Amino acid sequence: MFDSTADPLDGKPCADCGVPLQSFELARRSGYDPNGPLWQPTILTRLFGFTTSIDIHVYDVAQEDTDGLGAAIAAGYTKNNDLRGLIFLAKDLDYNLRVDILAFAFAIYIADTTRFLASPLSYIAVGRERSKPARQGPGHLAWHILWSCGRKTSSATFDLEFF
Ligand SMILES: [Zn+2]
Repeated sequence: MFDSTADPLDGKPCADCGVPLQSFELARRSGYDPNGPLWQPTILTRLFGFTTSIDIHVYDVAQEDTDGLGAAIAAGYTKNNDLRGLIFLAKDLDYNLRVDILAFAFAIYIADTTRFLASPLSYIAVGRERSKPARQGPGHLAWHILWSCGRKTSSATFDLEFF
């Protein structure tokens, strides 16, 4: 678990995009929503808090059903015709890969909705090999989300396949 209270970058603008980096500790000290996901106890539960907040449901998928992929992102509709996000996450990933892929899938969902919904089956697969760290777009957003949740990762960008 990193201690970002000691991180000199906390609160400073990101070198790539200029958006300030903000740890969950800094957020908590700065009037953050008392019911917000950053009060959750772990990186994974903080991410689940984010996905739940916009009605994305996350399901585990057994290794034999993943075709070697890390995750799949899909959209469905509720009984009331509201759009609902679905993320199917490979169960056999180790913790760090699991949180990185989940953050990336979440970022695709919120930052790349148009491209995602334009995909013929509204279905995107996420590989499990890291790509070069993105300096913009969903991979960079995922990196920021993870940073806020308490994880510094080398890259939160993964290959995508559209279906
Ligand atoms: Zn940035």
